[in-house]
Formats: sequence, structure tokens, C-alpha cells
Amino acid sequence: MSCDFLALAVPGVQKLSPYVPGKPVDELARELGLEPAHIVKLASNENPLGPSPRALQAIRAELDELTRYPDGNGFELKAALARRCQAAPDQITLGNGSNDILDLVARAYLAPGLNAVFSQYAFAVYPIAVQAVGAEGRAVPARDWGHDLDAMLAAIDDATRVVFIANPNNPTGTWFGPDALQAFLRQVPERVLVVLDEAYIEYAEGDDLPDGLSYLAEHPNLLVSRTFSKAYGLAALRVGYSVCSAEIADVLNRVRQPFNVNSLALAAACAALEDEDYLARSRQVNDAGMAQLEAGFAALDLRWIPSRGNFIAVELDREAGPVYQALLAEGVIVRPVGGYGMPRHLRISIGLPDENARCLAALAKVLGRG
Ligand SMILES: *Cc1c(COP(=O)(O)O)cnc(C)c1O
Repeated sequence: MSCDFLALAVPGVQKLSPYVPGKPVDELARELGLEPAHIVKLASNENPLGPSPRALQAIRAELDELTRYPDGNGFELKAALARRCQAAPDQITLGNGSNDILDLVARAYLAPGLNAVFSQYAFAVYPIAVQAVGAEGRAVPARDWGHDLDAMLAAIDDATRVVFIANPNNPTGTWFGPDALQAFLRQVPERVLVVLDEAYIEYAEGDDLPDGLSYLAEHPNLLVSRTFSKAYGLAALRVGYSVCSAEIADVLNRVRQPFNVNSLALAAACAALEDEDYLARSRQVNDAGMAQLEAGFAALDLRWIPSRGNFIAVELDREAGPVYQALLAEGVIVRPVGGYGMPRHLRISIGLPDENARCLAALAKVLGRG
């Protein structure tokens, strides 16, 4: 080969490292020669309850129509979300996961010479989306693992077009309250788009976290992104959405793939949105599991970062890489976060009670305290 196709890639892409997902259950099962059913995966913040039965039923009803393109405008899901979010349908953008929304924002508003501001320990997709379009990503040092909103404000300059903030944040689980958000939004220049990523907000609603939607009327530069991957339990289907001004939604719609959300995902999301019992159970399981893991960590003399998500970052007394590997050998998949600059932490998703117990027992064994 005489051509160097890496060198031919656009500069931002040449320097990218691919996103590293949680290890799939089937992959570990193959490597260890184990039954998948014996493996506990607490690595990707998935809902341990499995999908809502109502979502499954909606998918089955949709199967006969698989030869047809999906509704590219997502009429029904947008209408349902608009009712739920007290917004107009033209303020809603649907995405192939909320990841898609983040990409649409980057493609529509960023380019070489422009920059986006986010926090240290921010979701790994922000720097990837920003770099892929040749823009500069500015990671602002965190404070106590969470967003330092004042420092983020100070990092904004004339070339800043987007700020990404996540509440709660992944992988740290940290959060900020309504006053902090209000003060931040009042000071961000109007021409800077604020992407408020609320992928985990359903786990924290009604607590001391702000509901991003209630700031939209006052701040036309705000976009709130949410997902069906976490509390709604539909990660495999890839469906997320944003709520913002109709003007910004129109811009995103111009760069969107015509059929970016498939018909099974559309149908399942509509059904999941109606299943309030499922959502309530998801929260109960999460609250109980969080308490179970915290108690287990305390018993092991480990510290953790308090979290409002469906996961928790535990701090080890040593490098986390070998502990992660040893846990795999026990059939327990968690998430190493060294790539985030957290080499002594592991991020553990909240599972069912027996999954959490197995994880804690494996951790005790691996740390020599079992
Ligand atoms: C999981 C996650 C998302 C959403 O992922 P999708 O499955 O693409 O909707 C977005 N932001 C954060 C911070 C997440 O952790």
C-alpha cells in the first residue's frame, strides 16, 4: 500500500481515539468459557430490570412493518414527548441515542477555528464529537470531581459556540443544583449554545437537581438532551431526544439523517413513556442498589464519589486496572475509568440486589478482604 489513509483523514479525526464501551457479556463468556447467565455486567449504566413489557409488546406489534421506512419525523413520539415536556413538537429533535443529538450539535455549530467547553471527567463522547469536526475541545479542570461552572464560564471566548454540561455527570455521578444552573445560564453569552445533558435525570427528579426543561423559556440558547437508554431501559434500540428552541431544532433537523430513529425504537419509546410503573420501579431498584453498594464499600473501607446517577465511582487504594481484570476473572464486568484520568476508580452501575452482592463479594475477594 502506497497511500497512508490515516494521514489522509481530516486532522481532527487523525488524532481521535475511539470510544471504549463496557465489555459485552458474550465477549467475556467466550473468553472465560462461561455461561453468559453467570456473568454480571455492571459496566454500561443499563437498566437492570430489562425492558418494560409494554415496550416489548409495542415492538412485536411493529414487526410486520419492517419493510417500510420509519416515520422520519417521528410524529407520534414527538407529540408524546411534547405533552410530557410541556413543549411544542417543533422543539423536539429525535436522535439515534442522545449521542446522535450531541453529534448533530457538533456538526451544526462547530468547525475548525471554533471551540466547545466541557468539564474534566466529562462524558467521553463530547471530545470525540467536537474533534471529529475539527473544532477545539476545552476541558476545564473539575472541582471535587464535578463541574466548576465558574471556571467553565471563564473558559468561554469569542470562538466558543457550545458548552456541554451533564447533570448528573457521567462517570463521576456529581451534580449541581438549580441556583448554580440559573447563575450559569444568566452569565453564558447568548450566542453560546448550552447543551444540558440529562441522560440520568429520571433517577434524580424531584431531588435537589434542576429540571432543565423549566429554563428553556428564559434561555433560548439552552438545549436539554435526554435518553431512553438509561431509566427507560432501551439502550439497544438507540433513541434519545432534545428539547430546545424551534429555531435550533430546525438547524439540527438540516444535518440529521432522514431516518435516524428506527420504527421499533419509535414504537418502544412511545410505550415506555407511558409505563410510569416501570420508571418508578427503576428508581426504587436504583435507590436500594445505591445504598447497598455504598454500605458494601464502607464495609471494605473504600471511599466513593456520591452519585445521583445509576452508577457510582468507587475509589480503590491501588491502581484500578488489575482489579478490573481480576473482577473479570470472577465473571463481574465493571468499568475502568483510567481513560478519564481516574486511574484509581472503578465505575460500577447499579444492578439488581443479587448482582450488587456478587460484585461486592468479588471486590472483597480481589482486594484480599473476602
Ligand atoms: C449514557 C449517556 C448518554 C446517552 O447515551 P445514548 O444511549 O446515546 O442515549 C448521554 N450522555 C451521558 C452523560 C451518558 O452517560
